Amino acid sequence: MRQPLIAGNWKMNGTRASAEALMRAVVEGVSGTVGKAEVALCVPFVFLELGERLLAGSAVHLGAQNVCSEPGGAYTGEIAATMLKEFGCRYVICGHSERREYYGETDELIAKKLVRVTESGMRPILCVGETLEQREQGFTQTVVASQIDAIIAANGIESFAQMEIAYEPVWAIGTGRTATPEQAQEVQSFIRARLAEHDKVIAEKIRILYGGSMKAGNAAELLAMPDIDGGLVGGASLVAEEFLAICRAGDASV
Ligand code: PEP
Repeated sequence: MRQPLIAGNWKMNGTRASAEALMRAVVEGVSGTVGKAEVALCVPFVFLELGERLLAGSAVHLGAQNVCSEPGGAYTGEIAATMLKEFGCRYVICGHSERREYYGETDELIAKKLVRVTESGMRPILCVGETLEQREQGFTQTVVASQIDAIIAANGIESFAQMEIAYEPVWAIGTGRTATPEQAQEVQSFIRARLAEHDKVIAEKIRILYGGSMKAGNAAELLAMPDIDGGLVGGASLVAEEFLAICRAGDASV
């Protein structure tokens, strides 16, 4: 049985005050749940110290949304994996579609970031997914397979033992348009089968989250699918009650 992971992706949102209020509300809310699902908040870099303080001793893990592909040195404006680890991060989102699209991140670059994260003792959440155009042209599996295969080729199948995957159809991110549970399940079981071609044990163990307008109203039906092991939650993670309802759906899905 894979323990569900509900991870909030705050993206570039919030102020110091709102970040503090949201962290406090999530910590308090999660302490009242049965805690079967694991919970994490992936916050902007500047709120990591706050997160380290406010989430300490709670059941809520801290995460970051990006990392430098290099270990350290003259990379102005970048943040090293070792720095994230120092601030108590457990998870780091890598290869989010917004980074692939707006910042030109390639599979090769993402593969290097994954190495940085795992060698620093954290777990990457590797995002994969197709655009609307690719889906409409029937290329969903081709796109997702190439994103996964590139990481296998660069880092080996064993690297998947130390990470989570998030299937995030680009057309469902921030659009309010969610993949149906059947659509998400189809791709997520395809991802697991692709990994199983290389290593059945790793494929069976890895958590594959769904991301793309997951909210309180649709979380339960998505999380009920056999290959959906949690959620990467954007917009809905910015509202404590909404996010906590998804965490409760995660608990109930176990
Ligand atoms: C995301 O960007 O990771 C995401 C899933 O966003 P949203 O939930 O807002 O679609």
